[in-house]
Amino acid sequence: ISETAPWKLYGSQRGAKGVEPLRTFSQRANSKLYIYLGDITELQIDAIVNAANSSLLGGGGVDGAIHAAAGPALREECSKLGGCTSGDAKITKGHGLPAKHIIHTVGPRGKNPETLRSSYSRCFELLLEHDLKSIAFPCISTGVYGYPNKAAAEVAIETTRNFLENNLENVEAVIFCLFTNKDIEAYHNLLPAYFPLE
Ligand code: ADP
Repeated sequence: ISETAPWKLYGSQRGAKGVEPLRTFSQRANSKLYIYLGDITELQIDAIVNAANSSLLGGGGVDGAIHAAAGPALREECSKLGGCTSGDAKITKGHGLPAKHIIHTVGPRGKNPETLRSSYSRCFELLLEHDLKSIAFPCISTGVYGYPNKAAAEVAIETTRNFLENNLENVEAVIFCLFTNKDIEAYHNLLPAYFPLE
């Protein structure tokens, strides 16, 4: 992860101006947590997560943006995967993207915390299985699938915290890629509870 990466470190002195350093046990966890505001297809990291649908053949929203940027070879690879059920995830190469891999997960339609938790957990499992060090998540299920933003943010942040508590040495960066003002507000409000700054 480059020091000049275009995302903000959540809780370290290396981060953007105005970001407070941490002084709690979670300081090291916070130093690996990033917020990125913008298009996930532009991130040059090990893996970006796609909020896909069960066909894995492309769709709207972030899925459409990822397929458009990765090119037709992605659809070709996806077509061999036999789809994906809600709460599961499958990995492909990044093809035309700057990211090396894409982890495609299918979130729940509507508010189903168990399935959303499973989506995040499966993404982390694949990250470890493939020995990858950096991952960026879009706000899974909060678009067309209609999961309420704040409730979804809570699941994303809680799952990430659990993961970092157990696997801190295995990863360099977990990036929350936020695309809407609602999500920026939700993460801004919830992050300090799970990754305390003081
Ligand atoms: P879902 O079907 O899981 O709800 P959507 O793609 O409709 O997936 O929405 C998931 C989230 O991805 C939404 O917050 C949406 O604003 C966001 N999003 C859409 N395009 C992009 C993009 N290019 N980069 C990052 N996030 C995006």
